[in-house]
Amino acid sequence: MERSQFHTLPLGIDNCYLIEGERCVLVDGGAPGQTRAFVERLAALGIAPSRIGLIILTHAHWDHIGSAAALVELTGAKLAIHAHERHIVEQGLKSMPPAVTPWGRVFGTLLRAFLPFVTIAPVRVDIALGDDGLSLEPYGIRGKVLHTPGHSRGSVSVVLDSGEAFVGDLAMNGLPLTRRPDLPIFAEDIDAVKASWRKLLALGVTTIYPAHGRPFAASVIERRLTKQTAA
Ligand SMILES: [Zn+2]
Ligand SMILES: [Zn+2]
Repeated sequence: MERSQFHTLPLGIDNCYLIEGERCVLVDGGAPGQTRAFVERLAALGIAPSRIGLIILTHAHWDHIGSAAALVELTGAKLAIHAHERHIVEQGLKSMPPAVTPWGRVFGTLLRAFLPFVTIAPVRVDIALGDDGLSLEPYGIRGKVLHTPGHSRGSVSVVLDSGEAFVGDLAMNGLPLTRRPDLPIFAEDIDAVKASWRKLLALGVTTIYPAHGRPFAASVIERRLTKQTAA
């Protein structure tokens, strides 16, 4: 099968991913203040901003939507997020989930102290995603957006037919969050996180691209879930 080409765009503490098709699709909107870094990275790839037709926000936490308003203005792309989190983006709210691990509680306290210094520009959402997701075929990309709740109620993942999955914060793989690929240290509903993983694994995803940290094999999470069930 023909693979879609994609690029990792590190924007602050987040990775955004740019998937190339007839038009490009950008996964996530960057941490706050990352517009210039985005322009530079796009120029280095030789991709014109106007080639981006769609920006999918995996969820509405502040570190994923911080530069979305500027990126929409720069590219003219349509903006998509799950309907549950549309209001957070349109009102420029600063949303953060509860911790589910001891380190998450410590690190979450540090992040909350930093949050008053962050500003999120509000931006209109063009596509409010429902529970049945969205096909990327109109952009010439073999893949789809799926509702994968748990880290937040409206979290989505982008899954390519070739097996790569861009999962936002459904997993984390890098300091200061986690030492190795693992479930998120912050989540609204950790059981829903596990259910979403079972849904992705049943689809046969092979390589996971988290918003924080490096890619890893899907089998890591599969083993993690099996071990927990057995314990
Ligand atoms: Zn998040
Ligand atoms: Zn995040």
